[in-house]
Amino acid sequence: MDHYVLPKLPYEYDALEPYIDKATMKVHYEGHHKTYVEKLNSALKDYPDFRKHVEELLASLNVLPEEVREAVATNAGGHANHSLFWSLLTPNGERRPVGGEFSSNLDNTFGNFDAFKQKFTKMAVEHFSNGWIWLAVDNHGKMELFSTKDHESPITRGMIPLLVLDVWEHAYYLKHQNRRPEYIHAFWNIVNWTEVSARWDEFKKTGVTNREWRRAG
Ligand code: MN
Repeated sequence: MDHYVLPKLPYEYDALEPYIDKATMKVHYEGHHKTYVEKLNSALKDYPDFRKHVEELLASLNVLPEEVREAVATNAGGHANHSLFWSLLTPNGERRPVGGEFSSNLDNTFGNFDAFKQKFTKMAVEHFSNGWIWLAVDNHGKMELFSTKDHESPITRGMIPLLVLDVWEHAYYLKHQNRRPEYIHAFWNIVNWTEVSARWDEFKKTGVTNREWRRAG
């Protein structure tokens, strides 16, 4: 039996319409994401001892045998990043953080929500080629906004992701073609701020590092 499995989507393919269309959602989840899971299983087929939780893999890529390290990095990243991305979207988006400690820390770090949103949007528009835009927190509780290339995860940098946007073309091309700013604009309507805040609260309460921070399977 395969060790890594595609997690169930928390909503139907058409639930995020009109912001993310059904056709994109379907191919993104059961085409792209599923392939990363399959390739991760395949990369570790002959290395049962290294079949750790996907976030543990990402936190310690350097311990992996050299011949599979790159394949694991790419596909564990692709798997974990997509699992997280799905969990942070919702048809019932609140349009902005709903208060609480996450919200006040975001304000302290970026000035206010609109300033944060503007900075994140600019980074997402300007990111060259495939990658991901992140709001993440380090072990000291400092929030940071940055992008990664391909499927690099903040976990490999020792950080805990709070919010993420997939800016690979496959995430928006069917509906928006080359108009990435349109897709980013749509994204702000479906962010699950309740879940983003819950991730922050869990980090603050338990003080866990990324190694214990388990969501994706
Ligand atoms: Mn993707």
